[in-house]
This record gives sequence, C-alpha cells and structure tokens, in this order.
Amino acid sequence: MDNQDTIAAISTPLGKSGIGIVRLSGPDALEITRELFRTESGRDLAEVKSHTLHHGLVYDRGSDDPIDEALFTVMKSPNTYTKEDVVEINCHGGIVPLRETLDLVLENGARPAEPGEFTKRAFLNGRLTLDQAKSVNDIIESKTRFSLELSVDRLEGKFSEFLDSLREELTSLLAEIEVMIDYPDYEDSMVPREELMKDLAGIRERIKEFLADSKDGKILKEGHRVAILGRPNVGKSTLLNTLLEEERAIVSETPGTTRDTIEAELSINGIPFLVTDTAGIRETEGDIERKGVRKAKEQGEEADLALFLLDAGAGVKDSDIKIAHEMDRKKTVLVLNKIDLVHNLSASKFTDKIGGGWADVVELSAMEGIGLASLEDALTEMVWGGEVEKDESIVLLNVQEKQMLREAVKDLQDAVSALEAGRSIDLVEVDIREGRRKMGRLLGEDLSDEILDQVFSQFCVGK
Ligand code: GDP
Repeated sequence: MDNQDTIAAISTPLGKSGIGIVRLSGPDALEITRELFRTESGRDLAEVKSHTLHHGLVYDRGSDDPIDEALFTVMKSPNTYTKEDVVEINCHGGIVPLRETLDLVLENGARPAEPGEFTKRAFLNGRLTLDQAKSVNDIIESKTRFSLELSVDRLEGKFSEFLDSLREELTSLLAEIEVMIDYPDYEDSMVPREELMKDLAGIRERIKEFLADSKDGKILKEGHRVAILGRPNVGKSTLLNTLLEEERAIVSETPGTTRDTIEAELSINGIPFLVTDTAGIRETEGDIERKGVRKAKEQGEEADLALFLLDAGAGVKDSDIKIAHEMDRKKTVLVLNKIDLVHNLSASKFTDKIGGGWADVVELSAMEGIGLASLEDALTEMVWGGEVEKDESIVLLNVQEKQMLREAVKDLQDAVSALEAGRSIDLVEVDIREGRRKMGRLLGEDLSDEILDQVFSQFCVGK
C-alpha cells in the first residue's frame, strides 16, 4: 500500500444525524483542505497550530456559494490516530452535505479510503499493534457493555503486553542457548537443563492460563442464540415481547418463504443474546403439531440455549411431550408460563409428566412479567456459570488467536520434552524459536499483505 497518498472517507454513519465527519489522512490533508475551506478568522489552515478547532465554510473551488458550514479539526503528524496529518471536517449530518464535502476533497487530490484503512495506517506507522487495531473494530461492533469493556482492554494493549513479555523471556532464553551452542567448551556458559525446563514450563503454563481466562470473541459479539419453543398458545410471542420491552433490544425481521423469523438482540446482565422466534408466523391448524415438533428439532440444533414453554394453566398436553422429546434438556430451561392463572402451582407435577434433566425450571407470567428476573438469571447462569461480573483477566480472543496460542503451548511443550529426553540443544532451540515466532505473529509481525488486508477489510470505511 502506498502511504504517500492522502485518503478520505465519511467516518460517521450515513443517515439523519446532527453532524457527520469527513476525515482525511496523509501528507496532503492540510493542503487539500486549505484550498476548499475559508475559516471565519481568515486564517490559513496550513498555518494553524496542531490539535485546534476552526469554524468556517466549505466552498467549491472558484465558487462563492458555500456548500456547508463546518468545524475543522487540524491534527498534525505525528501525534494523530494514523501518525500522519489528519483533518476532520465536522459537517452538518445527512447524506447530501457529507457526500458533497467528500466529493470536493476527492476531486482535489484525496483518494477514497478503503475499509479500515485509517486504522491500517495507524498499525503500519507503529501507532497501534495489530491486536490493538483489531480491537478498534471490536469496539465499533460491540453490542453490549460487557464485550465493549473487553475490547477496550485489548485496545489498551493488555494482550499485546502479555505477548510482549513472554516473547522477551523466550528471547533471553534463546540468547543463553545460543551461547551454549557457540561455546560448548565453556563450563561457565552452561545453563543447567533443569533450569531451562523450569523456565519454559512456566511460560507454557502462563499461556495456558491466559487461554483458560479468555472468552470466545465470536459469542460475545454476536450473542448466544436462544430459541423459544413450545406448542401454540403457550405464550412464546408474549414472552418475546415482554423481553423486548424490558431490555433494550434490536429487532430484525427476516421475511422469506421458508423461514420467517424475528431475531432480537438482547443484552441481559451485560451478556448478548440473540433470541430467535418463529412464533409470529400464523400456522394452519392441521400443521401445528408436526411443525412444532420439527421446529423444536431444528432450532434446538441451531441454538445455544432454549426456553421450552408450557402453559401452567392448561397442564401438560401430549403435544408438549412430543416436543419435549426432541429437546436437548441440558441446554434448555423449562418455563412454566401463565402462573398468574394458577393458585399454588406445583412445579413437580409438571416435571413428573414431562421428565427432568432441564438446565433450570422457572415459573413465569410472560404477560405480567412475574418471574422474568429468574428467567434472566437462569440464562445468565447457563452462560457464565453465574459469573457475570467482568473478570479483570478476561481478554477476547478469536478462533485463530486461540489456535495460535495453543500451537505455541505445543512448541514449548516439545522443547521441554526434548530437554527431558536429553536431546541436542539445537533441537530445543528450534522449538523455542517457533514458539516465539507465534508470539510475534500475534503481535502483527511477519504478516503477509494478504493477511493484513483480510484483517482490515472487516472494518467499516472511515475507520
Ligand atoms: P404463542 O402461540 O406461543 O406465541 O402464544 P402467544 O404469546 O400468542 O399467547 C397465547 C395466548 O396466551 C394469548 O392470548 C396471550 O395473551 C396469553 N398469554 C401469554 N402469556 C400469558 C401469561 O403469562 N398469562 C396469561 N394469563 N396469559 C398469557
């Protein structure tokens, strides 16, 4: 990638908003903007101090009709997001002024930024580690406070610091080993094998602990899939609606001929859930039971968790039992709904008929919201084993990162085994080098352009 050019993009979401930002980065950012903007004070943008804000008007070149009124933030290299000269133009929100301003900037020498290119430059210019750069994207995509906090931890460099310190230790071990290889006759330079083994095993254990403490980034960002199941009229839609009212939810409807579903992203105790409901579809009478059973099967397979509703007022019906047969009970909460209709409900009456083995049994009135907190606690409990508060040592890792760390653990284990077996120190060195290389790769070194492009292409344009 050519870092000599100046890139520009709209950095805020398109749509109605109070303000929107066009952002430029690169050596010509100031030159391009100063020609198009007249500051109220009459000062030339190229001459103002770094990190200052200026009020003015945006003009097309050679025209005296302003396109928009704007605030310009001038940030000169190197103390900027990309380490390059950066200008941010705060325009009025809305697509037209933003597009026109961006077009002007592009006509005057900037090039449209690719997705994530600002952050990519921050990385290439040494301002962020790859890990920190990736966490910028996680922050943008975070749907809950919990995953946001974890991403911020990464941005602050917790993961990079950890990798860095391990790599440094491996480097000094390698230095000692190299002396042993180069000067085999010097008794003084020999590090006892036991000592090397102990050090390596210590590093290996720390990576293992780190892996155990980390959480799966995918689940945190996308939410645990929850299916609401049960025969018609037990209150599935009512429950979904109640959850939607209680919790801040994002609802998306997927119309289609084969699968009409409503998906709602909910944040419960800071944990994201993606509740899928097909109950909104009106079914024809004859199909009801067959469909109910098939849906239980399908959704049970797709979902991470399920809520199986019974109508406490109606008791257990044959169709309830048929649906229950299809369920993975360990990941299902049995919900006795409509308890407002029943006096002295006895849960065991239901479990006697429908069987046990559920993750939890909750008594609920979806309509009146009674028992909702218990239901939410049951869901939370299933996800975190009750541990809802953010643990300081948790870091979000994605699948590839986990895999890379596991491989590093294996390399170090191989080195320890080689030492134990009395193998030549050269062989031990190869394994340690390999482990250290993986730390480096996780830190973003030694990466091909292709991998870098893949990482940054997941970003939105303007970041
Ligand atoms: P679904 O077919 O499983 O989605 O069931 P609905 O949510 O459409 O509910 C069926 C009927 O049960 C509706 O008339 C609801 O108002 C009623 N209902 C749902 N939950 C409760 C509840 O907790 N208590 C009472 N009394 N009625 C409920």
